[in-house]
Amino acid sequence: MDAERFPPVATTCPYCGVGCGVIARPEADGAVAISGDANHPANFGRLCSKGSALGETIGLEDRLLTPIVDGARASWDAALDRVAATFARTIAEHGPDSVALYVSGQLLTEDYYVANKWMKGFVGSANIDTNSRLCMASSVAGHRRAFGADTVPGTYTDIECADLVVLVGSNLAWCHPVLFQRLLAAKAERPAMRIVVIDPRQTATTAAADLHLAIRAETDVTLFAGLLGALAEAGAADAQYVSRHTRGLDDALAAVAGLSVATIAARCGLAEADVRTFYEWVRATERTVTIYSQGVNQSARGTDKVNAIINTHLLTGRIGKEGAGPFSVTGQPNAMGGREVGGLANMLACHMDLENAGHRDIVRAHWQAPRMAEKPGLKAVDLFEAVHDGRVKALWVMATNPAASMPEAARIDEALARIPFLVVSDVVASTDTLRHAHVKLPAAAWGEKDGTVTNSERRISRQRPFLPMPGEARADWAIISEVATRMGFAGFDYASPAEIFDEYARLSAAENNGTRDFDIGGLAGLGADGYDRLAPLQWPKPAGGEGRPRFFANGRFYTPDQRARFVATPSTDPERRAPRHPFTLNTGRVRDHWHTMTRTGRSARLSSHLAEPFAEIHPDDAARLGIAPATIVALANPHGRALVRALITDRQQTGSVFVPMHWNDETSASGRVDRLVTARTDAVSGQPALKSARVSLAPFAAGLYGFAVSREAIAADGLAYWAKATIKSGLAFEIADAAFPDDPALFAERLLGHRDLVGVVDAAAGSARFAAFDGERLLGAIFLAREPVPVSRTWANGLLAAPAARRIDILAGRPGADRPDPGPIICACFQVGANDIIAAAKDGAATVEAIGARLHAGTNCGSCRSEIARLLAPPPCKGTDHDHDERAHSL
Ligand code: SF4
Repeated sequence: MDAERFPPVATTCPYCGVGCGVIARPEADGAVAISGDANHPANFGRLCSKGSALGETIGLEDRLLTPIVDGARASWDAALDRVAATFARTIAEHGPDSVALYVSGQLLTEDYYVANKWMKGFVGSANIDTNSRLCMASSVAGHRRAFGADTVPGTYTDIECADLVVLVGSNLAWCHPVLFQRLLAAKAERPAMRIVVIDPRQTATTAAADLHLAIRAETDVTLFAGLLGALAEAGAADAQYVSRHTRGLDDALAAVAGLSVATIAARCGLAEADVRTFYEWVRATERTVTIYSQGVNQSARGTDKVNAIINTHLLTGRIGKEGAGPFSVTGQPNAMGGREVGGLANMLACHMDLENAGHRDIVRAHWQAPRMAEKPGLKAVDLFEAVHDGRVKALWVMATNPAASMPEAARIDEALARIPFLVVSDVVASTDTLRHAHVKLPAAAWGEKDGTVTNSERRISRQRPFLPMPGEARADWAIISEVATRMGFAGFDYASPAEIFDEYARLSAAENNGTRDFDIGGLAGLGADGYDRLAPLQWPKPAGGEGRPRFFANGRFYTPDQRARFVATPSTDPERRAPRHPFTLNTGRVRDHWHTMTRTGRSARLSSHLAEPFAEIHPDDAARLGIAPATIVALANPHGRALVRALITDRQQTGSVFVPMHWNDETSASGRVDRLVTARTDAVSGQPALKSARVSLAPFAAGLYGFAVSREAIAADGLAYWAKATIKSGLAFEIADAAFPDDPALFAERLLGHRDLVGVVDAAAGSARFAAFDGERLLGAIFLAREPVPVSRTWANGLLAAPAARRIDILAGRPGADRPDPGPIICACFQVGANDIIAAAKDGAATVEAIGARLHAGTNCGSCRSEIARLLAPPPCKGTDHDHDERAHSL
């Protein structure tokens, strides 16, 4: 490698809110070697499976490389003129609120800042919202109610030095893996540290818990309201802190008066003894950190949940101190940066308030803004409703895919199909949203972007480019600035992201004097070199002053009287089950995929862990409904229907199903689960309740199951079920349909797109296997059966990349005896399968560490360690843990 031509570049991971530092080393052959940045304070060199595989996701396949206008390639000038002219005309004819932006936590802070400046200061509307509305708007609202500002008080080191870490609605092990590894390392060093996990499901995170409270969905407010009462009753209040620095305790306590532990336990579906243990552990532990995430935020009472948690920290004065505080962890890489620039429709830049005239004046003066928005704009769900009913006539979507990710996704499709003018900036050429775009604009992707992001602990890091911008792609800030300038607005002639950051830093300090939490005035005037060299640092960073790692230990908040507010959060009875749609649908992430898989879906390694959409179903529900392992199930409600694979496991509660949110119409026939989620929102934050839709569940009467590997996409359209995944040298497809084909050979030819297949049909067994070869080179293979196909996916996924796939093995549907099947992949980093781990365990490797020493599994990112531990655990007494058997067939 030529170190001078290809110097290593320190940048930041583009996935979750942990914000890990990454070293990218471009190589002469175009590949990029990825490693963790040992100097970055978020990860100290660690990366999770997604971060480790970043080098596999930067190819230019599927990239949008030129502007497209009305379906035809266009010049940038033509595309930008069209966008500027249409937005200007729409505003002139229908007013500023007839246009909108829907942006993303994937944008860099500089992109976000310019988009907000254009919309809120020059268009004169606050109709700019972000997909972060789906992620942490309830945390923002809860912080602002309690603290008077959207402030995350603590740091990651608080999690490590706490004596009690309470995780609420957070599968930290899979969704914030490096932070989870830091937590586990701290616990290994100080085994007395306790971890409590509050989650309806058993997850990789609950496996590490000293106490798992498998709470009934949506009863967190009751549990924490009860905790407030219990702490007060036990004399755990910090009376001095409460009396000097807070208001509203009496009302908060009145709201929980008479709430007994027995009632709390009954409402939450918990054992009374477990509730008492939790309350006692919190009472007795000064160094308590409560981490919360989407299980708290994505709820119709999300803001109340946040305030119920914060109330307990205010009462005990456990906030802003080393090892103590409430801690919201964000989903997206720059969700925090978006909050800081006012990316939400109800906020102004630099944590200023849109409805505060003084704040508007500060921003107006700084921007020289001709037309400041004076009222909040439409929040995401309302925004798309306004698109649907015609109030919003021109929409620009940046770096997100609302047609897949918004609730009631079918209605979003309708809305996007009928809007007169839709612009989409994206890095990929095809998404559920791009299908509707009149103008498609090619944006810079990770590796090409240049700017900053902020992680969950308020740490600003640089994302630095290490790849040239491909095709005609441009930075988002540059695209927005061009449109603003073409609309006749001054103040958008930025030459670089450094100039934008400088303007932003100066705005944060304008008339601040410590009255606002967000102050990075000390970063103004860095210049291009200083900006380029900027090392990761936490805000605040005021001019002439030192930053500080924590907020609020001094008891000074950002409310008018500088006192924090308790918020009364009364307990309510849990919802009754609707007879026609009796299941609660919980949605979330899997370990190795990100959002709608536009990047992680390109990696064979990441796709090897869970390769298709699935529903976790409790064995009792499955038995009652006649759902067999690995069969296809239909979830339905009035908003739509989804078909996914059944994963039967007692890690799920009865009456609930969990379905991951990653699959969409690009990657599956009908796995887009957000089409089933009701657009019900939290009244304060506007965040949709993405984890508590009601659905019915039923077996899908499949007469055909199949699995195919192919160098090209197979002709799966028209089949009731298909899902595709990237494998080495091609794609893998799971398929299912109502009837087994009368002529399996013809069916296989049609799907694979090849003739003259070699194959075998076993009519008695109801199965068939075919393969297409070009000489000795395998082009594709398909395995069909009337039941879920019992073919090792790990073996079959390797066939296309094998030097010479053996016909006899393919026709037998299994590897030869000389090539043992590794089983379903558990460790994505080292591609270690369940069978390998079980064999090593039988051979004496009885611990996770011993498995690591023998097979390397679990020794890189560590994300699979809890799954390895479960494989090593003695079999459950009731035969309940079916999932690994099941994954041998499908998942
Ligand atoms: Fe990226 Fe993983 Fe770190 Fe999150 S934990 S920032 S996904 S490497």
